[in-house]
Amino acid sequence: MSKAQSTNNIGIISAKSQVAQVRTRFAPSPTGVLHVGGARTALFNYLFARQNGGKFVLRIEDTDKERSKKEYEDDILNGLKWLGIEWDELYRQSERGEIYKKYIQKLLSEGKAYVSEEKEGKSKSVIRFKNPNLKVKFNDEIRGEIEFDTTELGDFVIAKDEETPLYHLAVVVDDFEMGITHIIRGEDHISNTPRQMLIQDAIGSPRPVYAHIPLILGADRSKLSKRHGAASVNEYRENGYLPEALVNFMAFLGWNPGDEREIFSMDELIKEFSLKKIQKGGAVFNTDRLNWLNSQYIKNMDIDKLTELCLPYVSSRYPAAGSQREKLKKIIELKRERMNTLAEAGEEIGYFFEQPEYEKEKLLWKNEKDLNATKKHLEKISELLKNLDENNFMSQNIKNAVWDYAEEQGRGNVLWPFRVALTGLERSPDPFSVAEILGKEETMARLKRAIEKI
Ligand code: GLU
Repeated sequence: MSKAQSTNNIGIISAKSQVAQVRTRFAPSPTGVLHVGGARTALFNYLFARQNGGKFVLRIEDTDKERSKKEYEDDILNGLKWLGIEWDELYRQSERGEIYKKYIQKLLSEGKAYVSEEKEGKSKSVIRFKNPNLKVKFNDEIRGEIEFDTTELGDFVIAKDEETPLYHLAVVVDDFEMGITHIIRGEDHISNTPRQMLIQDAIGSPRPVYAHIPLILGADRSKLSKRHGAASVNEYRENGYLPEALVNFMAFLGWNPGDEREIFSMDELIKEFSLKKIQKGGAVFNTDRLNWLNSQYIKNMDIDKLTELCLPYVSSRYPAAGSQREKLKKIIELKRERMNTLAEAGEEIGYFFEQPEYEKEKLLWKNEKDLNATKKHLEKISELLKNLDENNFMSQNIKNAVWDYAEEQGRGNVLWPFRVALTGLERSPDPFSVAEILGKEETMARLKRAIEKI
């Protein structure tokens, strides 16, 4: 606690700030959509607050009227909600003008700030902070002791006028008023900290604990950008990433549990997360790892829930899927082993909804030249399946029905044309599973069509 805490209270310092409960904040400027970097900052603040039974504050820093947009604010709020990062309190700086004004007036009346006439270009006035030229020292939770000589900062500008505070002042006033105890934010804000500490002292705010988290880097170790495959949170959502996977992924951007475990739910993260385990060096963004994590969540998800989530990606291509939930569920069950994203659910499944088109030569297994032999195999399969009851047309029964014949004639010779007749593809799931999903009638029709092709 700084000595300034005992500063006379003129009635604008809320009682809240005296409470020792942990309070963190995420303070995005709505001048762009929510990206992974911002979402990770929000996540770390959220985890730390929850872990300590504290509160997580969301503060929209929209004082820049020209660049701040409502649509960006919506994007940020929706992105956080989707990720499951729930805030306890929400503030907008644009609604807090009166509060900043009181602080500006107080600083002016105490001689800690002054109006200064700017001579450059056409003359206008700004409000400058009277820099006491101190050395400020703080112990960053991640980076250790940091010392700055603030002399070089001069009397920096803190407001354009009494109504218009600039970033440093608004942040400090808000952190104080909102009783923020821990400031967890990107390393790029380290250089802002000395100015903010000087202002804290001037308004009588205690010093919050600081934790500056490492930058996120692309695989080439340069600052992360779209070029590295990094997208906005909403783009990840649209591209079929699961919020659980993205949260798990983001938690590891700078943090890890110190052992081999890789899969963490939000609740597990709340238990295990620790500022002490955050690394100093840049956190490398690895898209392959994100895809792997997403595939793990897809593999382990409740199949009904997964089917619902996949539906939009499938029905945008195959509208019929919407009214065929049971069929879709089986398709997804078959596909999920190889899916990295929900969007992939819609890929290479056309044959389930429409007749496949293919050249008859595709029915030939590897070195087989004889289409007549292939035709004979397809006829035999039809015959073997004809006897299966429609209600028992299950993958295992279908396999049992044709297996002996396939063994006898060579599996590839028999099963390859069977599969191509159903899917028209060189690569697809096994013909038994596909036949089950298509049903007996459609399977028989496709076999017949292949035979006729030859
Ligand atoms: N509004 C600032 C930003 O978006 C964050 C301020 C802070 O975390 O102190 O970069």
